Amino acid sequence: MKYDHDIPYKIYLKESEMPTAWYNVRADMKQKPAPLRNPATGAPCTFEDLRPVFCDELIRQELDNDDRLIPIPDEIRQFYRMYRPSPLVRAYCLEEQLGTPAKIYYKFEGNNTSGSHKLNSAIAQAYYAKQQGLKGVTTETGAGQWGTALSMACSYFGLDCKVFMVKCSYEQKPFRREVMRTYGASVTPSPSETTQVGRKILAAHPGTTGSLGCAISEAVETAVSTPGCRYVLGSVLSQVLLHQSIIGQETKAALDQYGIKPDIIIGCAGGGSNLGGLISPFMGEKLRGEADYRFIAVEPASCPSLTRGVFAYDFCDTGHVCPLAKMYTLGSEFIPSANHAGGLRYHGMSSILSELYHQGLMEARAVEQTRVFEAAEQFARVEGILPAPESSHAIRVAIDEALRCKETGEAKTIVFGLTGTGYFDLVAYQKFNDGQMTDHIPTDEELQASFALLPKVPGQK
Ligand SMILES: *Cc1c(COP(=O)(O)O)cnc(C)c1O
Repeated sequence: MKYDHDIPYKIYLKESEMPTAWYNVRADMKQKPAPLRNPATGAPCTFEDLRPVFCDELIRQELDNDDRLIPIPDEIRQFYRMYRPSPLVRAYCLEEQLGTPAKIYYKFEGNNTSGSHKLNSAIAQAYYAKQQGLKGVTTETGAGQWGTALSMACSYFGLDCKVFMVKCSYEQKPFRREVMRTYGASVTPSPSETTQVGRKILAAHPGTTGSLGCAISEAVETAVSTPGCRYVLGSVLSQVLLHQSIIGQETKAALDQYGIKPDIIIGCAGGGSNLGGLISPFMGEKLRGEADYRFIAVEPASCPSLTRGVFAYDFCDTGHVCPLAKMYTLGSEFIPSANHAGGLRYHGMSSILSELYHQGLMEARAVEQTRVFEAAEQFARVEGILPAPESSHAIRVAIDEALRCKETGEAKTIVFGLTGTGYFDLVAYQKFNDGQMTDHIPTDEELQASFALLPKVPGQK
């Protein structure tokens, strides 16, 4: 084993080295991400437009394109200390198994009960809701990681938490539902009869097993119609990327301590928050012309928003109650095939990442789920951690890049985000182990039909 005695297996920052501010990559972007727009008027959203839906301080963060560093309040840092700093691990065993000259590192965000990076933003959003004197928040959850993280954060600050959980996940993932309930959240399968938009969707599509876009609409409707309640979202929004910048800042600080400069940084991309957070400080250096890196976003071939979507204003939700966002999108009616097991199923992508990708500052790759689970299995067997299917998209491409290094003989340094653990995804692992996992790639015709439903926005073809 080629253990390098100068670099530990795990690089842990000291608690005192944990970042004291989030880094806002928008401050260093010359071309800023396009603003959210009001779906009724097409005008850019103002603070007042967003107030009925979101918490005040989070709106300020959402609209802030200029402040480079945003201090992390002490109460949030206090909570972060329970599970952060998270380790940056050198994948020595994986390197050896691959026989690659590449050096592979992963930043592991699965070391908390919610099992993913989502807690980093959940605790921040719950804190600001509490600060504002609100009673509670609503949200949607697909596979359940976000709902779990938010339940933990709300119970810590004594807030009510109402989660609309996509119906098929509610039925297929009862254990995650029970974690949420243990933390005091109420969990409703979506679409439900409890909202107007839910009843409308049920009438139009009887027997539907739901979608993220539909659960978002229900959560927003409930937030705006309940006094002292706001809606919070676990990805896609710029405020969430901001909170997740703690991942990248810790990664950079750990690498800097050992004088390591990555060549390639890889992350899985659903709504883009973990990837955006991981790459932010490195992208900042690239934008300021101080350093160069390759960034690779990895998405499922069954939900390929960056690689096959269009860059356009679109609805964020099926019920069309949210602001419009300019992003790479598959259309708000797009729902990945039912055999897709690997998460990352949102139809759009963070407008920050969409803009960076559009400018050619980031690459994207779509991978099929059977190859993703092959990578997950290979990683689990040598590195010990059972990865979440979402995270395994990043593992897949990290392995592919390391194998390319083997061909060319280049000893590149690869860093990837290991966003979480897969203990609640064992039905998907079971399918894979039984040889019953299949791949589905949407046809161009399916995508065109979905693009035809994009909203008409002034100034857009
Ligand atoms: C939610 C989730 C993702 C994808 O969300 P992003 O906002 O794209 O980061 C990735 N990995 C895990 C484990 C998740 O729970």
